[in-house]
Amino acid sequence: MSRIIGIDLGTTNSCVAVFDSGSGPRVLAGSANRRTTPSVVAYTGERNSGDVLVGEKALRQAVTNPKRTVMGAKRLIGRKVNAKDVGWFARTAPFRIVSAPNGDAWVRVDDTPISPQEVASHVLRELRTQAEEALGEPVTRAVVTVPAYFDDSQRQATRDAGTIAGLDICRILNEPTAAALAYGAHRVRAGRRIVAVFDLGGGTFDISIMAVEDNVFEVLATNGDSALGGDDWDRVLIDHWVDSIFDEHRVDLTSDPVAMGRLKEAAEGAKRALSSERSASIQLPYLHAAHGPEPIHIERKITRDQFNALSADLVERLKAPCYGAMNDAGLVASDIEEVLLVGGMSRAPAVQAAVESIFEQTASKAANPDEVVALGAAAHAGILAGDDEEATLLDVAPHTIGIKVGSTGFAAIIKRNSMLPVREHKLFATNLDDQEFVEVEIYQGESDTITGNRKLGQVRLGGLPKGKAGTVRIKLMVTVDVESILSVKATELSTGKSAQVRITPSGGLSQDDLEEIVEKRRTEAMSIARPPEDD
Ligand code: AMP
Repeated sequence: MSRIIGIDLGTTNSCVAVFDSGSGPRVLAGSANRRTTPSVVAYTGERNSGDVLVGEKALRQAVTNPKRTVMGAKRLIGRKVNAKDVGWFARTAPFRIVSAPNGDAWVRVDDTPISPQEVASHVLRELRTQAEEALGEPVTRAVVTVPAYFDDSQRQATRDAGTIAGLDICRILNEPTAAALAYGAHRVRAGRRIVAVFDLGGGTFDISIMAVEDNVFEVLATNGDSALGGDDWDRVLIDHWVDSIFDEHRVDLTSDPVAMGRLKEAAEGAKRALSSERSASIQLPYLHAAHGPEPIHIERKITRDQFNALSADLVERLKAPCYGAMNDAGLVASDIEEVLLVGGMSRAPAVQAAVESIFEQTASKAANPDEVVALGAAAHAGILAGDDEEATLLDVAPHTIGIKVGSTGFAAIIKRNSMLPVREHKLFATNLDDQEFVEVEIYQGESDTITGNRKLGQVRLGGLPKGKAGTVRIKLMVTVDVESILSVKATELSTGKSAQVRITPSGGLSQDDLEEIVEKRRTEAMSIARPPEDD
């Protein structure tokens, strides 16, 4: 059996790690010792040629090839094109987002519609190759992390991306659970502890409040801002310098994509420097040559205080989601025993100061906040492989599962955060005389009505014995296994007659779609491996 790797498949950056028995999890670096890989896929070459660049190489050419460079595919995976956040993303993304025949959000490059599962699979394949090179052995199994709020279809679509990349996804793990595991939140002391996982990455902000007890990680509440991340802090610096260049040279740099690309890189570098230095400077010789006799050379200096003043609004936006999450969990700052920092942008001092004021305590920092989620995924992989004998980590159901009652009501059967595997039953009776069949519709979600929840399927039990309303009794048994597969069985109690459904979540692609994509990839890989024949 090959080793199981742990993958943090991020919106902006991804990371891969492995668990070594004895020494614990470690990041598997790629070429040039890069420890994270931009989650960017660029379609290059002729139309439909299948040529793709992934990671750093894709990012480097993004400004000059914006329509064919896909970033943030994680915002689309397993989602409908009419979902609220998808609309916002479609308006801001430089590439096209379209509707698949089933309403799923896909991207369109040139004339070809591409599922986000396929885009993500390129990133997963890159990480898989990176892991194989670092380990010197083939890798076919992985634990992949997803945000705690991902629903069944987003989780399944992530699994499907793994299948396309040739990876068997052994487990989908919640990102805050992975982070808490890597931080060792379950080892601090016995008993129930409440921790907050504050995750500010390149493009998204997630806050999760968790209870940790006996190696069980329970997500009590999540909140966040899917349109807030490190990129916004970069943009503040870019805008500042674009304005100052305009004032000085009367040149609008925004119409020069190459100059804007260089400025973005410099701004991000300056932002990072300001996390440890009081000031930073940028030097961009020959930044813009298109107008006037002299090319424009730029040198600028910025202090941390100036940067903090420019980005104060962004820091302010971190507060409401944190208070919202505490409120939803019925907790206040003094109930939170530890705050764990995750995501590269959590390194910024102004962000850490905001965390301190919100949670009234100093947060715990990992050596590399952009690696902890992958390290946690690898730690979980170690547990699954039996390499880590000490820990047994239990998963919980991420959503409430229940049935339709009346015309729009929802009755919960399995409560959100129940430990997996879980089985619950409910007894009910017919409500008509000589009723011939019952049909039970199964939903997931936290709303009291079915309209706010998502339908998963239905089970129909026919051939009921004759009897007055309320006398024929049916037992409904709902089971969710450790792989989150749901099965529902309805049994008529006097005859023992039963009907059952097994509901495997759908990520939008059918089994046939998946097989077709896998086959297409295989043919492409073979034609790349085989050198062109001389004629
Ligand atoms: P992640 O998505 O977790 O990889 O986070 C990426 C974001 O973290 C990007 O916006 C980076 O610019 C930002 N980042 C990484 N290191 C630092 C740092 N030292 N200071 C401020 N931001 C950083």
